[in-house]
Parts: sequence; structure tokens; C-alpha cells
Amino acid sequence: MLDAVVQVSIELPAFFYAIVFITSLMVGSFLNVVIYRLPIMMENSWKEEYQSYFSTTNDEVKTESKSPFNLVLPHSTCPHCGHKIRAWENIPVISYLFLGGKCSQCKTKISIRYPLVELFTAAVCTFAAWHYGPSSAALWSVLVCYVLIALIFIDADKMLLPDQLTLPLLWLGLLLSTQSVFVGMFDAIIGAAAGYLSLWSVYWLFKLATGKEGMGYGDFKLLAALGTFTGWQGLPIIILLSSLVGAIVGIIFLRLKTDEAQSVNGQAMPFGPYIAVAGFITLLYKDSIINAYINWLIG
Ligand SMILES: [Zn+2]
Repeated sequence: MLDAVVQVSIELPAFFYAIVFITSLMVGSFLNVVIYRLPIMMENSWKEEYQSYFSTTNDEVKTESKSPFNLVLPHSTCPHCGHKIRAWENIPVISYLFLGGKCSQCKTKISIRYPLVELFTAAVCTFAAWHYGPSSAALWSVLVCYVLIALIFIDADKMLLPDQLTLPLLWLGLLLSTQSVFVGMFDAIIGAAAGYLSLWSVYWLFKLATGKEGMGYGDFKLLAALGTFTGWQGLPIIILLSSLVGAIVGIIFLRLKTDEAQSVNGQAMPFGPYIAVAGFITLLYKDSIINAYINWLIG
């Protein structure tokens, strides 16, 4: 099936990119749901665990009647009036434009972030597919993009990098390395271990020296996952790029002196989005970056 799609795509590249673009718009719409609901689902399960661990009787837990809350249920509604979003109101980007960015019932504004996430997902994934050309590597890189985009927004919103996203990405990278899709098995395994342990060491050095926590375990897992796609050779590039972009954004926020500047001062700034963006750039351009660096060294 996948081979057939790739075969048609090699003969008709435009068809391939169009499929990737339209699919990614729809996945982007689903990512909006994941970005909003996954952290809430995690908080709910933490509460449940906490209650079942500390409650003396089981009755207390059971009295709470629970309606399902997952990525499918309940169906999306307008947060203002509770109007159920119908299928035609849920078409990526088009519905937003058609509704004029407002709820069809109560005319409350719908956040522009939803169509922007959809367009961003489609644009970035089509770019990745174009970079690799019609191939299975292109399709896998698109899947990696989906996971990274969800992680970027969840970390920016909630300072969380869910294991439900980082760990499957890690396993996927290790499996793909057995087929040398992006890098070979050796580079991927060393990449995973070195990715995790490098940030883990920095974390403990920083904690022992200052008593503060500079980043979280989610960051280590994300870098480990990215290391399986870029190989260990990509890790220095990811760390340098993410620190550079993080520093630039930090300085901009400090200059703006907004509420965000406060959180930068209080060092509660998510690092995951920078690692994810740097990882994506490194996945696509690792070889060019390394070659440019070697040429620069040779002079
Ligand atoms: Zn409404």
C-alpha cells in the first residue's frame, strides 16, 4: 500500500505534495485537540492516581460520576455557549474563514490559533516532504513533524512534554534505524543514550551547584528521541541551535518587559519548543551544517 503510494508519487511529485498538504491540514486540526486535551487528560489521571493512593475508602473515588474525556469524546463544543461543532464547521481553515472566525450560534470569536496551527502543520510538513522528495523517508519525517508540533505547543502552554508523545517518538526512531531510514542503528542508539545523558548531567550539575532545576526530564527524553533520528552527530547541533534560539527569544521577551518577561526572570521558561525546532532543522540539514563547519575549520 505504502509502496504503491510512493510509486505513484515518484511519477507525479505534485500529487504527493498535495496529498501531504491536505492530510497535514486535517492532522493539524486533530493536533489542536491533542494540544488542548492531552494535558487535561494527564492532570485527570494524576488526580485519580493521587486519590486512589491516598483515599482510605474506595467509596470516595467512586462517588464522582465520570463522563468520558479523551481525544474523541466529548465532541467539540463552543466554550462560550456549548454549541456542538458540526462536521461542516470543522473543516480545517475553510470553516474558520467561512464562519468569519466566530461561533455560528453565539458569534463569540474563535481563536485564530486553531487555523494557524493547521496551516503551520501543513506548511512545515509539506516542506519536509519536499526536502526528501517522494519517498518513505518523507512520510516518516512528516509523522515526526506531527509529534514535534504537538510537543511544541503543549510545552509552551503547560510546561509539559508528555511521555505519551516523547517515548513513542524514541521507539519509532530506533525502529526506523534498523532500516537506516535516517541514520543507522549504531548512530541512533548512541544518539538516544547520549541525548538523554548529556542533558541529565547538565541538570544534576546545575542542581547541585545552584539548588535549582533548569529543565525537566521531558527535555532529556525529547533530546533522546531526536538523537535516534539525527544520530549522535546531530546532538551538538541541536543543543547549540536550541540554546541560541532560546537566548534570542529570552532577550526579546526581556526587552518587551511583558508578563512573559517575568517568567523568563523566574527561569520558568519551557525549553522543549527550542529543542524540537532545532531537532527538526538538524534532521533536515545536519549534513550541510557539518560540511559548512568543516569547510570553515579548514578555512
Ligand atoms: Zn458559541
